[in-house]
Amino acid sequence: MSSDLHIHTSFSDGRLTPEEVLTAAKEAGLSTIAITDHDTVDGIRHLYENEKDNVKGMTIIPGIELSTECDGKEVHILGYNVDIYSAALADGLVEISEDRWQRLAMMLEKLQELGYDISEAEVLKVAGTSSSVSRSHVARVLVKKGHFPTVRAAFDELLGQGKPAYIPRYRIDSAEAVELVRAAGGLPVVAHPLLIGSDAVLSKLLKLDVAGIEVYYPQHNGEDVRRYGQLAELHDLLKTGGSDFHGIPGRYPESLGEFTIEDELARLLVEAMNK
Ligand SMILES: [Zn+2]
Ligand SMILES: [Zn+2]
Repeated sequence: MSSDLHIHTSFSDGRLTPEEVLTAAKEAGLSTIAITDHDTVDGIRHLYENEKDNVKGMTIIPGIELSTECDGKEVHILGYNVDIYSAALADGLVEISEDRWQRLAMMLEKLQELGYDISEAEVLKVAGTSSSVSRSHVARVLVKKGHFPTVRAAFDELLGQGKPAYIPRYRIDSAEAVELVRAAGGLPVVAHPLLIGSDAVLSKLLKLDVAGIEVYYPQHNGEDVRRYGQLAELHDLLKTGGSDFHGIPGRYPESLGEFTIEDELARLLVEAMNK
């Protein structure tokens, strides 16, 4: 058995609904999963309120992935076992959501300047039930209109950190996000440290009240895993990992179960959650 602690649903920019994620995870034989949508817990709320969170033999951790900034770098902070009904979390998420809408408007303006004619309506149509409209949805419109072959290519050339249509400056900084997760009773974990692109920023993050580092990640090679694992041990932090599954064709992993971590790591996270 294996586990996956980083999964997105259609409530952010994943393609599968939370129910479909649970079914796919069950079929893949996963023992522990965490749903970690971008800046929303609506997918988990949806499961709870429809009493669909009880899948026999599988542990489901309520999580979130917050988009933040630290010293000019985009940093994602995972929050595990957050109380999805926490007022502090709800307040923080309202602020983040306002920021998202502002950033989306700025991004569409920038795209117009660059000669890509995309409307907010087209983005919203692709976003469907998502509570957090994002760059991924913009990328999907760009692909749909034939500007790029894949979502990945749109990010690499246009929307990714530092690219022409990238909008810098997230409203909440990483320190606030860490506090927000703690205030909601959760465990903050630094997501995919390699993608931050700065060791200086990473060491700054490790001075915050974080509980872990996402050591295992599809884009981390053996050397990255060794290095981040060592850092986790040095700072007495949990080692977590997950596939960052979105269910998007052409984006690895395309299905749940293709990238997993050992159950022991998930067990240690659950143990820390219950302390
Ligand atoms: Zn992320
Ligand atoms: Zn993610």
